[in-house]
Amino acid sequence: MPELPEVEAVCRRLRKQALGAEIAAFQAQRPSVASPQTPDDIARATDGARLRAVRRRGKNILIDLTGGSTLRVHLRMTGDLYVIPDVRFRPVTARAWFELSDGRALIFDDSRALGKIHAYPTPEIENVLGHLGIEPLSKAFRPETLIDAARKSHKPVKLLLMDQTIIAGLGNIYAAEALFHAGIDPRLPANRIRAARLRRLHAEIVRVLRTAVQSASIAYMSPGRFSEAESFPLAVYDREGENCGICGRRIRRIPQGGRSTYFCPGCQR
Ligand SMILES: [Zn+2]
Repeated sequence: MPELPEVEAVCRRLRKQALGAEIAAFQAQRPSVASPQTPDDIARATDGARLRAVRRRGKNILIDLTGGSTLRVHLRMTGDLYVIPDVRFRPVTARAWFELSDGRALIFDDSRALGKIHAYPTPEIENVLGHLGIEPLSKAFRPETLIDAARKSHKPVKLLLMDQTIIAGLGNIYAAEALFHAGIDPRLPANRIRAARLRRLHAEIVRVLRTAVQSASIAYMSPGRFSEAESFPLAVYDREGENCGICGRRIRRIPQGGRSTYFCPGCQR
């Protein structure tokens, strides 16, 4: 599933490819891509509009249009959003697309068809996404932010990190990697971790995400399919049974909150 770094990379690519482009038409292969809105709602909000700005909030891509609408795209499991030179040559997994007036097309490619596109009046976006927590790559994300959140939570720290209402955009892969580099057991209740260790965790979250944004931006500069963390050096994620590069112990996988958590029992206490 694309996390903050991959979504950020898609935004950067879109800015290069499509800022200023004019939307001529919207087509949805299946209406569910817009539900509970309809493809007609999206078409009405976008026809004739130009892409004014591309922003990211958490794992959401926000495309501000002239005319006062903002598109919100959530990639979910397998979504990708990119421009192709000719609308006639779109992939079979294109669930929806915007025909651009210069003949190109902005493609929403989504093999599992779980992603969503919605349109809102731009000022409403703040409310629509009001539940999202702090952006971990913004200046507002301070060590104290994490310390305060941890103090109020008895959840395992890994689940705290993945709670989108606290930190927006951090997901399964990079939460596991940050915990490894901070040397913290993902099962520890958040409120039992000392402040000094949480400061280190804060620093590792920022460092891991920055590195991953760089890797993802390079990997996704050209159109193509997503494979998250493609060029990021993963220390524990998806490495069950392999030896830890630091201590040599075998990396473990455990279920947490319905997802797999990977960690090193030697390095993470
Ligand atoms: Zn280890």
